[in-house]
Amino acid sequence: MNILITGGSGFIGSHLSEKLLNEGNNKLFLIDNLLTGSTKNIEHLLDSEKVLFIEHDVQDHIEIEEKIDYVFHFASAASPVAYTEHPVNTLKAGSVGTINTLGLAKKHGAEYFLASTSEVYGDPLVTPQTEEYWGNVNPNGERSMYDEAKRFAEAATATYARTYDIKTKIVRIFNTYGPRMQLNDGRVVTNLIVQALNNEDITIYGDGSQTRSFSYVEDTVAGILALMKSDKYDVFNIGNPNEMSIKELSSVILKLTDSKSNLVYKDLPNDDPKQRRPDITKAKENLNWEPKVDLETGLTFTIEWIKKELAK
Ligand code: UDP
Repeated sequence: MNILITGGSGFIGSHLSEKLLNEGNNKLFLIDNLLTGSTKNIEHLLDSEKVLFIEHDVQDHIEIEEKIDYVFHFASAASPVAYTEHPVNTLKAGSVGTINTLGLAKKHGAEYFLASTSEVYGDPLVTPQTEEYWGNVNPNGERSMYDEAKRFAEAATATYARTYDIKTKIVRIFNTYGPRMQLNDGRVVTNLIVQALNNEDITIYGDGSQTRSFSYVEDTVAGILALMKSDKYDVFNIGNPNEMSIKELSSVILKLTDSKSNLVYKDLPNDDPKQRRPDITKAKENLNWEPKVDLETGLTFTIEWIKKELAK
């Protein structure tokens, strides 16, 4: 298959690309504007004649001459710090970028796969979040350039599927961590590991009682591939239901890094969700997928990778 992946040199996009290249006879067209992605993430793939990297922003029209069979739209800044730094680009990646990539899928008769997010549930009032939950999102708040763009992206995908008979799938990705995360994009896992390794203060926003559920990138990508290969043209949560508070996460990281860092408490960012936990029953039953890597194992791999990055 000829597979186009926007955000192909990003954190999740690069892991997905690697798996797709290693299986079967796929040719990959990786599109990225390198705003938050990096060719470093895919340099080991670029020697292959089956990989074509195109530096391009999805907010601009995309023209590919070769026939494309499958489109993954994964391009977007995705951490609160990154989308706050690039607010308009984030808004456009989810809106115009989704329309552009849907248009490309329509023209090529390709299947379409949208990377959505647990952020479509906003600051959820029900827990765990099932795919049926419509969410609790501040439409003009400080996270809205990401949350609402992704909600629009889902609406656009559903509308194109209904209107033009395109086959589409949507994955709502919950907090994912692992090698190739950007170390400076402010996410809690990287921030805390870097601080712990440097014996610097560990920054806890708010009182640290807010919860997240962390999925190791290999598990997340396995879920994405299970959905790709299934005959389900539908919306699925992919994540690890192992919910914990940020304070609990900090103790695990302190233990695994054997760090002497102290906790310091900072203001909680506006609209920071108080809880987040995926209900993955639908994915388990329909895709025969579930996460396999427990938190300590995944964090240990991540810590080893970060140590190497810091030593560079
Ligand atoms: N957080 C924190 N300290 C940090 C970075 C993040 O306490 O140094 C908190 C943040 O306020 C949020 C949670 O950790 O409640 C997860 O933040 P992240 O940016 O990783 O992702 P989010 O799930 O909010 O998109």
